[in-house]
Amino acid sequence: MLRENLELVENNILEACRRSGRDRSEVTLIAVSKTKPVSMLREAYDLGIRTFGENKVQELTDKYEVLPHDIEWHLIGHLQRNKVKYIIDKAALIHSVDSLRLAETIEKEAAKHQMTVDILIEVNVAKEESKFGLMPEELDAFVDKIADFPHIRVKGLMTIAPFVADPEENRPIFAHLRKLSVDIAAKNIDNITMSILSMGMTNDYQVAIEEGATMVRVGTGIFGARDYAQQGNVR
Ligand SMILES: *Cc1c(COP(=O)(O)O)cnc(C)c1O
Repeated sequence: MLRENLELVENNILEACRRSGRDRSEVTLIAVSKTKPVSMLREAYDLGIRTFGENKVQELTDKYEVLPHDIEWHLIGHLQRNKVKYIIDKAALIHSVDSLRLAETIEKEAAKHQMTVDILIEVNVAKEESKFGLMPEELDAFVDKIADFPHIRVKGLMTIAPFVADPEENRPIFAHLRKLSVDIAAKNIDNITMSILSMGMTNDYQVAIEEGATMVRVGTGIFGARDYAQQGNVR
C-alpha cells in the first residue's frame, strides 16, 4: 500500500510541477509520519524516503533514536519553549516558529550548542482562531527582530491552510503566503532568506505546488488515515 501511495503522490507532484512550469527538484516531499509506527517509517525509508515530518517533540526524538541517521527530521507542529532543548540538534528544520519568545528560546539553545538553526515562520494566513502562527500584518516587525538572532537562520514561511472540501478554495491562501515571502525577500535583510515555502497537505498539495510551494507536507496520502486512539504507541 505504501509503495502505491508514494507512487501516486510522486505522480501528482510531477503533474503539478508540469502544469506550473516548475522543475520537480524545486519541491521537497515531507512524509508526515505522526502517529505511525516505526515499522511503517522503515518501510517508507526502504522505498527511498529520507525526509520525515513529525508534530510532537517526544515522538520525533523517539523515532530519531531508532531509525537511520541519514533521515532529515522536520518539526512541523507547535513547539513549546520548554521542549526546544530536546530537538535543537535533531530537527533539520523547524517549520513552526510562531512567537518571539519561542525564537528567543531557540536562539539561546542554539548558542549553547554552538550551532545555527534553520527555521520557518508560521503564518496564520487564513486567520483561523484554532491555529497557531503570526498574523500576516505582524510579519514585518517579527522579521526585523529575528534577523538580529545570530544562531537562527530564517529560510522561509509555512502555513497550515484550512480544511476544505475543494482544494481550490485554498489557492488564495497559498498565493497570499507566496506574496508575503516575495515582499520579505525584496527587503534583502541579512540573515533572512525566503527560499522555502512550506504549504500544502494531502488534500491540497497539488494546488500548493501550482502556487509556489517548495515543501509539501503529506501524511494521510502516504501512510493512510491516522488512528488517534493508537497515539503514544508509536512502536
Ligand atoms: C498532520 C500534518 C500534516 C499532514 O496532514 P495530512 O492531511 O495527513 O497530509 C501536514 N502539516 C502539519 C503541520 C500537520 O500537523
